[in-house]
Amino acid sequence: MRKPIIAGNWKMHKTVAEGVAFINAVKNEVEGTDVEALICAPYTLLPSLVEAAKGTSVKIGAQNMHFEDKGAFTGEVSADMLLDIGVTHVIIGHSERRQYFGETNETVNKKAHKALQKGLTPIVCCGETLEQREAGETKSHCKVQIEEAFTGIAAADAPKVVIAYEPIWAIGTGKTASSQDANDVIAFIREVLVGLYGDAVSEEVRIQYGGSVKPANVEEIMNESDIDGALVGGASLEPSDFLQLVNF
Ligand code: PGA
Repeated sequence: MRKPIIAGNWKMHKTVAEGVAFINAVKNEVEGTDVEALICAPYTLLPSLVEAAKGTSVKIGAQNMHFEDKGAFTGEVSADMLLDIGVTHVIIGHSERRQYFGETNETVNKKAHKALQKGLTPIVCCGETLEQREAGETKSHCKVQIEEAFTGIAAADAPKVVIAYEPIWAIGTGKTASSQDANDVIAFIREVLVGLYGDAVSEEVRIQYGGSVKPANVEEIMNESDIDGALVGGASLEPSDFLQLVNF
């Protein structure tokens, strides 16, 4: 009942020409799959990617946005600006933004509100550090991140949010959480949503796993009961890899 969502997170990679060539290489193959296929790219590529993906089921997302509508925020991009060029999704609170760019649970919450208000689909990221995992704090940490991200978000809007559980120690390291471990945390995040919104809403929210997902492990991960998709960095950069992910 929850449509799987496979999202590439290109991070700071690719020129416009490279990005357009990628979309042209995957767009026909993605048709006819029961999967929502999404590429989240740097801002400079977004208009060209939206154009290249027009009329196909490939969706284009941003990797960040600001929570204000406009103003003196040098270097920032608003939800309206993303919508203006046909972007449909936005990653919010990726661990790299939390680590290097001062993103907090509070700004994640403001951005989630703004995305929902404007009609963008937010992909809200959470996940623990290695130290937190080793200290047995994975679930308590994710609970706080999720509760604070969803503060003030109405039950009617909650199912529009996609959550990405990305253990930080598994991002770009080649180390994945075992699929059972990932499913265990994701099932726990769903319990947190039950506490906030009840069973029916919680059953609707799609929760992705991210962290060294690749063609070789995607099937096992996607076979888990509570995992509804993947947010993929490194293995989303090559069309052939991305197609294997979408065809898990
Ligand atoms: P990775 O990145 O797939 O390269 O581990 C995932 C992410 O950061 O979203």
